Amino acid sequence: MQTPLLKAQQAQEILRKVYGYEQFRLQQAEIVEHIISGGDALVLMPTGGGKSLCYQIPALVNEGVGIVVSPLIALMEDQVAALKQAGIRAAFLNSTLSVEEVRGVEDRLRQGELDLLYVAPERLMMPSTLNLLERLQLVLFAIDEAHCVSQWGHDFRPEYIQLSVLHERFPQVPRLALTATADAPTRKEIVERLALEDARIFVNGFDRPNIRYRISEDQGNTREQLLRFILNEHENEAGIVYCLSRKRVDDIAEWLSNKGLSALPYHAGLPAELRKQHQTRFLNEDGVIIVATIAFGMGIDKPDVRFVVHLNLPKSIEAYYQETGRAGRDGLPADAWMVYGLRDVITLRQMQETSQAGEMHKRVERQKLDAMLGLCELTSCRRQILLRYFDEHLDEPCGNCDICLQPPETWDATVVAQKALSCVHRTGQRFGVAYLVDVLLGKTNQRITQFGHDRISTFGIGDELDKNEWGGVFRQLIARGLLTVDAEGYGGLHLSELSRPVLRGEQQLMLRKLVKPQRKKPRSRAGKNMSGVSDDPLWDALRDCRNTLAKQQGVPAYVIFHDASLMEMLERRPQTLEQLARIAGVGERKLEQYGKAFLDVIQEYPDSGVISVTDTAAESLRLIREGKTIAEIAVKRDLKETTIYGHLATAIEAGDIPLNDVLGLEENTLAEIRFAFEHNEETGRLKPIYEALNEEYSYGILRCVQAAMKAG
Ligand code: ADP
Ligand code: ZN
Repeated sequence: MQTPLLKAQQAQEILRKVYGYEQFRLQQAEIVEHIISGGDALVLMPTGGGKSLCYQIPALVNEGVGIVVSPLIALMEDQVAALKQAGIRAAFLNSTLSVEEVRGVEDRLRQGELDLLYVAPERLMMPSTLNLLERLQLVLFAIDEAHCVSQWGHDFRPEYIQLSVLHERFPQVPRLALTATADAPTRKEIVERLALEDARIFVNGFDRPNIRYRISEDQGNTREQLLRFILNEHENEAGIVYCLSRKRVDDIAEWLSNKGLSALPYHAGLPAELRKQHQTRFLNEDGVIIVATIAFGMGIDKPDVRFVVHLNLPKSIEAYYQETGRAGRDGLPADAWMVYGLRDVITLRQMQETSQAGEMHKRVERQKLDAMLGLCELTSCRRQILLRYFDEHLDEPCGNCDICLQPPETWDATVVAQKALSCVHRTGQRFGVAYLVDVLLGKTNQRITQFGHDRISTFGIGDELDKNEWGGVFRQLIARGLLTVDAEGYGGLHLSELSRPVLRGEQQLMLRKLVKPQRKKPRSRAGKNMSGVSDDPLWDALRDCRNTLAKQQGVPAYVIFHDASLMEMLERRPQTLEQLARIAGVGERKLEQYGKAFLDVIQEYPDSGVISVTDTAAESLRLIREGKTIAEIAVKRDLKETTIYGHLATAIEAGDIPLNDVLGLEENTLAEIRFAFEHNEETGRLKPIYEALNEEYSYGILRCVQAAMKAG
């Protein structure tokens, strides 16, 4: 029997060796220890926070198999693939497996050959599965996406309700429920339905500081706004664009494709085969954009989604938070960008009014929509509003949302609002926005004349604003609840109680100004800028290398290494396996399998950023001046020859030593190499030159010659 302390050390060791990470994040360490010592837990952690480790590591520390309940089959396969890459014994059971495959997994379970088993809830609940589990040594049950038990939530899954059985049948086995979305009522529901009354609750911050929240007003040219956004800020990067209807999904995907982007549609109306194909391309290829209805995404585990766009208003803040949360799981900068307009507000209000749900349910829905509209319309920091919804408090405005970056201007719209409201009143509270705006602008058409609205006092009193601006005013009046939308579904507007004080002139009304579309802005807060990275040729080479390896094995690229790991390679340019091992995300197994391939790539690209000679390079320089050969220096310093060449190339480029003192090449040899450099178009890449010279000269020699050419 091991002591808890020993186990905690073991967990730390696994984190380092298997996953290649130095430290636990947030409350991971506490959660792991709690589970290892037999406790139940409810873990609330934002997407990308690192929930998986909370159950994977205990399953590796303690004897037996950990059972992971996961609602989505596609996700399961990817997670198991990623675990296998790290050398962890994992498998899944779901309906995609053949009878033989299922038997294979069951055999391995009985032999104690698995550390982790992923299983769909309906599969887990089958009597045969439960019977099998009863005969095994179980470390834990992890219930992922636990908010799926909530009937109020947007991802309700009836199968999840039955999971309370686990507590009854396996009272000794620790259970942990995990979710990224849970406001207070949902939390309560999870605890009740999964019988987690004795569980310790771990609430980790909901903030996703690397996500920049931006909400723009629809200016009548959404498609162009979208295209500009992608091209300006996210060219060749992966993203998701959410639309409400299937038709809109098809339209937008086609439009983006016609503009030369890899955009693929995804919705329930497409054949399952095609959907799967699109999803696979999104996961496995670089820079694919998925245009989708909300049918896409739950359990999309792709860490390098750089942007999530909403072309419609989500129904609630939870939905918005969860959907935008699919961006930037790797912690690198990402954008959540939404365009919304008058039509969205009317549609959602209408849907709600006409909903057949009970009064209580309706009220909940209305509150959720109000909160969502508040997020869009208010003029305080988006992140503060968002977090407040999850009972979390952010003291300062975040500095990384559109409101913080470009505070909206407000204006005294009291008089304008009075005109709009009284126009609603004078026309009998049954017309929609388009009609009302026509009346305000003094347009005559057949309907207006027919109803005699060209003779009322509000006819033509609104020419201080144009049609678009009036639309913005009405949207804000509806969003703030001064106007309500009729239940009959024709879009007619009514005055609410809230409009009275404004109409009577007792309350001033400040509205936001229409924001003109803006140009690119520099990034703040989140630090690293992905678009700076993409200029470096090594970045592309590292991605190519990763893609090749991923293709060979038929797994998504990120399963080999995350972007964050590649970025670190780019920055630190490790030269040895030992140095590579220090990069986050490079565990023992991956080092063994891929280390060499990536080092080779890195060595192909001299770091042009470094000009001055660093200490270690200075030492090589000293030795060569002493008359040592490069081979001798390499042996003496226990470094690779290429590394020494690298040091010397740096010195040559800085003008600290002439090329001749390092290489002593014949004049015509040198001319030949120079010629090869001068006649190669691809700047920075050494490989084509190496090949053009029939691989006769090492990369080290080439680097030195290149350095001399740069030095002039
Ligand atoms: P979640 O399930 O909470 O959305 P994941 O478990 O998928 O998040 O983790 C998100 C990313 O963070 C993964 O790439 C994971 O490997 C990485 N990660 C998790 N824990 C750590 C840690 N302690 N240090 C560094 N990276 C971590
Ligand atoms: Zn902010």
